[in-house]
Amino acid sequence: MKYRIFGPAGREVSVVGQGTWNMEKDDRRAAVEALRRGLDAGMNHVDTAEMYGDGRVEEMVGEAIADRRGEVFLVSKVLPENASRRGTVQACERSLRRLRTDHLDGYLLHWPGRHPLRDTLAAFEELREAGKIRAWGLSNFDEEELADAIRIAGDGKIACNQVLYHLQERAIEHAVIPFCEQHGIAVVAYSPFGSGDFPSPSSSGGRVLAGIAAAHDATPRQIALAFLLRHPSLFAIPKAARAEHAEANAAAAEIELGEEEVRRIDEAFPRGRRRRGVPTL
Ligand code: NAP
Repeated sequence: MKYRIFGPAGREVSVVGQGTWNMEKDDRRAAVEALRRGLDAGMNHVDTAEMYGDGRVEEMVGEAIADRRGEVFLVSKVLPENASRRGTVQACERSLRRLRTDHLDGYLLHWPGRHPLRDTLAAFEELREAGKIRAWGLSNFDEEELADAIRIAGDGKIACNQVLYHLQERAIEHAVIPFCEQHGIAVVAYSPFGSGDFPSPSSSGGRVLAGIAAAHDATPRQIALAFLLRHPSLFAIPKAARAEHAEANAAAAEIELGEEEVRRIDEAFPRGRRRRGVPTL
């Protein structure tokens, strides 16, 4: 596994981490085992949210990490509808109980909402000073919304921006990644496999991935992860509810693509024009 410093949080976080959205629909024992196997393989970054399964996924994560809390960089998210000054603190306390821990390593606003950002960020700072979270970040923020957050909180406070990024959705490359790199904000790629829409082996892009994968004795998904991770600020959080998937994802961190391979992937999955806002699922 490879680790990078995670924004101003200053912690070494695995470049490939573990997503958990929809895990409540998976076999519970297998999913808990997959998360633990992921930790064994060095994927210390575990991403969850109060939204996932209405709290049931946080309980599964709590079970998976109960005896290994110290190894984990644990991230959860507050729903925008709960992100008032008081609501954020209360939501965090509920998440902590479900996760069976006394602190989160990262706590994110799931997407911009109707509560004033100033109130959410004040609550994040209050939680940080109380030791209930080590760092806070944002999710689904474009570069203008990030700039607003910096105007409120100051530079060097935002640990990460978690955004949609996969081979067929590269919009964040235009402005969000450069903005984050300039401000020392970690970029966390969610749905790195397109959330169930990974390029099929028979498509032209799929054939390019397969060719490069064969040269590395790897799988097309591992090549896709390696491509996303070519940016120095990038972390990816694929979700895997099967242990063999978790292990394969962790192994992708070791793959180094050559310039020509990056060029071929870039050509097969063009990044497209700049659009307003960040794409979301
Ligand atoms: P994803 O990671 O792009 O894809 C997950 C799918 O890929 C699952 O069906 C999984 O199967 C399969 N998979 C994983 N590893 C595999 C492997 N090595 N070989 C074959 N199949 C594999 O989708 P996602 O869950 O949408 O995104 C990842 C995480 O990002 C989420 O779980 C969540 O934590 C986060 N997220 C955040 C936001 C946000 O708004 N901030 C939005 C969406 C997602 P199995 O589960 O059966 O292993």
